[in-house]
Amino acid sequence: MQEKNQNKQSVSKEITPQSKDFSRWYLDTIRKADLMDYAPVRGCIVFKPEGFELWERIQQAMDKRFKETGHRNAYFPMLIPESFFEKEKEHVEGFNPELPWVTEAGGEPLEEKYALRPTSETIIGHMYSQWINSYRDLPVLINQWANVFRWEKRTFPFLRTSEFLWQEGHTAHVDEAEAREETMRMLEIYREVVENELAIPVWVGQKTPSERFAGAVDTYSIEAMMQDGKAVQAGTSHYLGDKFAIGFNIKYLDRDNQHKYVHTTSWGTSTRLIGSMVMVHGDDKGLALPPRIAPTQVVIIPAGPMSKREMVLEKLDEIYAALKEAGVRVRTDLRDETPGWKFNEWEMRGVPVRIEIGPRDVENNQVVAARRDTGEKTTLSIENLAESVNQLLADVQSNMFQRAQDFRTANSYTHINSIQELHDHIESSEQADKIAGWVLSGWCGNDDCESKVKEETGFSSRNIPFAPPVGKETCICCGEKAEHTVWFARSY
Ligand code: AMP
Repeated sequence: MQEKNQNKQSVSKEITPQSKDFSRWYLDTIRKADLMDYAPVRGCIVFKPEGFELWERIQQAMDKRFKETGHRNAYFPMLIPESFFEKEKEHVEGFNPELPWVTEAGGEPLEEKYALRPTSETIIGHMYSQWINSYRDLPVLINQWANVFRWEKRTFPFLRTSEFLWQEGHTAHVDEAEAREETMRMLEIYREVVENELAIPVWVGQKTPSERFAGAVDTYSIEAMMQDGKAVQAGTSHYLGDKFAIGFNIKYLDRDNQHKYVHTTSWGTSTRLIGSMVMVHGDDKGLALPPRIAPTQVVIIPAGPMSKREMVLEKLDEIYAALKEAGVRVRTDLRDETPGWKFNEWEMRGVPVRIEIGPRDVENNQVVAARRDTGEKTTLSIENLAESVNQLLADVQSNMFQRAQDFRTANSYTHINSIQELHDHIESSEQADKIAGWVLSGWCGNDDCESKVKEETGFSSRNIPFAPPVGKETCICCGEKAEHTVWFARSY
């Protein structure tokens, strides 16, 4: 982000078409829809009310499921003593380059400097070592909603920022089997929320060792395809083994009277999900929000001549009340603007269904409903309107998921078996003005092969999907026997 220039830039009047410049389209859209602004701090953004509300709805969807599976929320300090990072070697190596430090407070240098948390395994591990004594104290199932800091080299609004909002789950268990079960349970919750609520299809799988979370034994992820064919890691769940337990001395007395280390997990999703939702569903008109997440699901707009406005408004109030009563997140737009202007405005803001009502509709006891996803208009009777609107919202939700899934299928390639073939594929895509998408290829398991693919083509490993559409026999790089079938793609 080049804040200096962008701060001064006014929001562009028009949204750049996706086909012209997808990044520009994204930046235009999130600003025009008023989701964010650039902050006067490197790589940081302000979440404006429209954007924050999306986060609140994602939070609610996640939080509900965390609680249903026995987790509770807590809060730990943002400042982490330097010595804590030294206790897990891989963790410190992974995160050190990205840590901002507090070295001075109250006008005095600090005896020990504090990091602004990039994640909280260390401070939470420290506390767990004091709270866990017996097998009776386990499992500990805690989630934290918080901000974290990672001084990233490249930043991009929502998708990769220096400070971001997220949830981080941290759990401790009696043994490996239970901790692994938890790791998978939370991964499945992520899949379910992202697919069913955000209408984003994801590939669920395991990260390769080089892409593992710093200090994890195994990292699993959900990966989503954006409309420019790039991948976004939309959530991660880690099995941490007893590494943090050893580092922080988290032991319990078991039934057999032996002291044992706990096994821990951690899992996180962030405000990156907002950007993913924009990039998966938006179009040249702006945002398109899935009904389950959209803060406003339906907007009602009066139409027709002012001389007949009174009778229209009377009916409009009635419909508004009926929809609200039925639990629909509905609003009206009575501003002194033309209906056409309002239509564009609410389309740009991504509201899934627009209801238009004019004098003739009132006479016929009907309204016109327009879907944001297809642009299709239908006439609905005011009789049982709430029911038909709810049905329409459900249709929009499932159509948005289906469309995203069809797009993903159309841009996934499973026939590429060597770096040369990948080069050819990238070149022919460019020539045909098509996106190169994702490729599913074999991999021998060697880090060098994985990094060679990335260096030579820009395609990095996304994950090893649990249910690949096909299994691959040979490594895309060395041609030896494949140990794994891996998604490769350019990524954010
Ligand atoms: P991690 O703790 O590294 O596994 O991160 C958990 C999740 O946070 C990732 O899967 C991403 O979806 C998200 N995330 C990581 N880094 C950033 C960032 N700089 N900005 C926004 N989201 C991020």
